[in-house]
Amino acid sequence: MGEYKLFCMGNPLLDIQVNGDESLLQKFEELVTDYNPVYVAGGAAQNAARGAQYLLPPRSTVYVGCVGNDQFAVKLRQAAEKDGLKVEYMVVNDVPTGTCAAIITGHNRSLVANLSAAEKYHVSDIKTREKWSWVENADYFYIGGFFLTVSVESILEVAKHAAERNKPFALNLSAAFLCQFFKDQLDSVLPYCDILFGNETEAEAYATNHNWDISKLPKVNSKRERIVIITQGENPTFVAYSNGTVNEYPITLIDKKDIVDTNGAGDAFVGGFLSQYVQGKTIDESIAAGHWLARKSIQLVGPAYPAEKLTY
Ligand code: ADP
Ligand code: MG
Ligand code: MG
Repeated sequence: MGEYKLFCMGNPLLDIQVNGDESLLQKFEELVTDYNPVYVAGGAAQNAARGAQYLLPPRSTVYVGCVGNDQFAVKLRQAAEKDGLKVEYMVVNDVPTGTCAAIITGHNRSLVANLSAAEKYHVSDIKTREKWSWVENADYFYIGGFFLTVSVESILEVAKHAAERNKPFALNLSAAFLCQFFKDQLDSVLPYCDILFGNETEAEAYATNHNWDISKLPKVNSKRERIVIITQGENPTFVAYSNGTVNEYPITLIDKKDIVDTNGAGDAFVGGFLSQYVQGKTIDESIAAGHWLARKSIQLVGPAYPAEKLTY
């Protein structure tokens, strides 16, 4: 595989993660002062990109998004570097790097994002000669669904390039609210999707807000069959093909006491999946790697991967 063949794009956020209870979900302002938060690199697509790079040879994955000119951005760059991820951030000076408050209640998490700089990403950045050369050089694309609220124009530029060159283009549904409130943006990108990721809640939200089956809806690049991959936490992962085939992949359960938090489980899954898929492995092999990396990640605080380099 050549260098930087996997290109990812999304909202780079720093997660402010605390352990709390239901009542804390009502009062976010106390979060930083009273609950000893840990700051961890976040941003769904960036987590997936770090995950993919974690299992790939050096210099395989590049990630684009917008950050501020501040200490939070420094932390994000350090986390990316630790996992070997190349980041090509757009930087704005007038707003801080985005953050995401993640409240862990038991094994579950609730998220509230403050996009700040991430929201400033603009299509003019991806169109610069330097940035666009990363796109042209890549053979695989992955974009986080949350980026639909920021720059659909940028997503479409990349998606069109992918379709024209017959390069696989993957998107994550990322959150139920996107299927509801960003339906038009999502619908404009879906025809370009070769691979669509999501979890059970997102799949359900999609189905309630659209009257067609995702794996069958129209597609720009007719040379590739669309694949829809739905994870369901501890329940089996489904893979649906446009010909109607649906395959089911059971999860190897983890002892409840070994689960630290499930923040970023879906992103770790995508990272593991992509790490194999971009190396030409089968869907079965890619799903197995996705489950493997997700299992590692939920045994650590936040959307992180083991410090020691494990070989998969
Ligand atoms: P999301 O974070 O998008 O909600 P899921 O919750 O579906 O994603 O989790 C993605 C993957 O993480 C699952 O397919 C599974 O491999 C792993 N996973 C998540 N929760 C658990 C769990 N409780 N036990 C074992 N594996 C889990
Ligand atoms: Mg889940
Ligand atoms: Mg997810």
